[in-house]
Amino acid sequence: MTDVRSLIIIGSGPSGYTAAIYAARANLKPLVFEGSVTAGGALMNTTDVENFPGFPDGIMGPALMDNLRAQAERFGADLVADDVTSVDLTGDVKTVKLADGSTFQAHAVILAMGSGYRKLGIEGEDALSGHGVSWCATCDGFFFRGKDIAVVGGGDSAVEEALFLTRFADKVTLVHRRDELRASKIMADRAFANDKLEFAWNSEVAEIHGDGILEGVTLRDTTNGETRRLDISGLFIAIGHDPRSELLVGQVDLDDEGYVLTQAGSTATNLRGVFAAGDLVDHTYRQAITAAGTGCQAALDAERFLADIE
Ligand code: FAD
Repeated sequence: MTDVRSLIIIGSGPSGYTAAIYAARANLKPLVFEGSVTAGGALMNTTDVENFPGFPDGIMGPALMDNLRAQAERFGADLVADDVTSVDLTGDVKTVKLADGSTFQAHAVILAMGSGYRKLGIEGEDALSGHGVSWCATCDGFFFRGKDIAVVGGGDSAVEEALFLTRFADKVTLVHRRDELRASKIMADRAFANDKLEFAWNSEVAEIHGDGILEGVTLRDTTNGETRRLDISGLFIAIGHDPRSELLVGQVDLDDEGYVLTQAGSTATNLRGVFAAGDLVDHTYRQAITAAGTGCQAALDAERFLADIE
């Protein structure tokens, strides 16, 4: 039988590490599963982060995550770079398993597995991430002042990102596979009224060009297969996100899109002793600072829960 710890945290982005810092400083000795390949979370795939408070000159994404990790470790969090492959969160004692069969137990669990941005699946997309290819207009729009850029997608988020980006860019081309937007009428009307926005209808990105920095894309017409080159410095991919909640299905309440549902004003899920934070929960903000903020809340919620059951 394994020891039953106070707290297990699953996930190592800004939400998981922030929860770990708070829980470790509260003497809960959290055990943190960071993930194997993706330890450190989404910011490991980016370059400059200019909007995380406290870094007036900005900081590289991986350096920020190394700092958070070191801070959690300094206060005694146990960090394990492994993937959790199954969980049983329903009882008073929660069980977490790894691929090698090892089992860990705790009275409380914080879920902080984040969400994955959907990718186009095209060569060059990963290599140029942070060098012209982006998934976050709020994060990166500022880098494209006076440039020509494109946004891929046709839903509300894509249109919202495109409209936001017209504040910086000279020209924004919205690339959409169909001949009409999926976005709501109000968003579509705003898009059509904006002079800086152009539309590449019935189009998909077939190729990404650039050596070290994005130079352009090849667009393919989805009706006749014809291709054309579009020279751009920025490509924003806005085709959706997938919360990493597969482990939780059938135990933790999820919404229709798979995001974890939490109680209003709290990080508590439907299960006692199970809390959730960061992009796993958040449809709306999806920022490092908001993930860190809810990670802090989850640790404080877990701390109070553990004090109550003592
Ligand atoms: P993530 O950062 O997604 O971390 C979750 C991590 O949990 C995973 O990566 C993995 O390591 C781990 N995990 C998942 N499943 C398991 C499992 N089963 N077992 C163990 N571990 C697991 N935000 C900003 O504020 N400013 C920016 O400049 C900015 N730039 C960005 C650039 C890029 C390219 C991307 C993709 C995102 C950017 N963001 C930025 C958004 C920001 O990165 C996210 O909002 C934030 O990282 C979410 O944090 P999180 O802790 O919820 O999840």
